[in-house]
Amino acid sequence: MPDCLFCKIIRGELPTNKIYEDEKTFAFLDINPVNPGHTLVVPKKHAVDVFEIDEEEWNAVMGAVKKISLAVEKALQPTGINLGMNNKSGAGQVVFHAHVHIMPRFQNDGHELWKGKPYGAGEAAKIAEKIRGVI
Ligand code: 5GP
Ligand code: ZN
Repeated sequence: MPDCLFCKIIRGELPTNKIYEDEKTFAFLDINPVNPGHTLVVPKKHAVDVFEIDEEEWNAVMGAVKKISLAVEKALQPTGINLGMNNKSGAGQVVFHAHVHIMPRFQNDGHELWKGKPYGAGEAAKIAEKIRGVI
């Protein structure tokens, strides 16, 4: 994709702090990190999101996420690591080249997790059935 920001980073047309590269994946530091070491893992083959990416590319991204999470853990010794992915603007996606966030956590870093809310009576069973029905 000629105008895609992350494709340009992969092609070396924009500067970045590269962390890792293999045949199918590329990883680099997020420019605006939750914490130092926040890394993005992307497929080299352009895909917009989890809905569009080929299974083979997805599996490669997951392999790289595991490898880099271990490296971030070893190098920075965070208190933990959050993995995340935003898909579609309705979920906060801003860059439309699929990417997984590896976010190291540190004590009192101020980063908050999502807040859960309970199901109403009978609602969970209906939702589960709805999702199972289209797999
Ligand atoms: P999302 O699309 O999942 O909401 O997040 C996009 C992420 O890309 C953000 O965390 C943002 O800081 C990061 N980002 C945006 N532009 C650049 C850039 O030019 N270089 C790098 N390394 N990261 C970027
Ligand atoms: Zn792209």
